[in-house]
Amino acid sequence: MINDPKRVLCVEDDPTNAFVIKAILKGHYQVEVVQQAQEALPKILANDYQALLIDINLGKGQMTGLELLAKIKQSNRSNVPAFALTAYALPGDEEKFLQAGFDHYISKPINRDILLKLLDAACSPKA
Ligand SMILES: [Mg+2]
Repeated sequence: MINDPKRVLCVEDDPTNAFVIKAILKGHYQVEVVQQAQEALPKILANDYQALLIDINLGKGQMTGLELLAKIKQSNRSNVPAFALTAYALPGDEEKFLQAGFDHYISKPINRDILLKLLDAACSPKA
């Protein structure tokens, strides 16, 4: 695992949340963080990430995590597991995220065990 860390991209505009996610995944995954979807998309297309952690609300006037996912789904990276992260879930939001093509939904504050368990499952080799 240390020699061949699994690479994860996190799209998160809040530095505190990004810090927490990096702390949780330290030693388990090699995490890159970008703050905006516009930065994320070219990296996703150019790299072989094992999973994507995508905050939904990326700031006023910015492309949302849902809009980013729509672009990913139209690309040749459409099969990379994608996790929606959000603190502002309304009833029906989880269903909406899953219908949009996210593999999982994780509510904030992020639970360490849930995040690691879902990521490990998403990143384990398929039989
Ligand atoms: Mg945010």
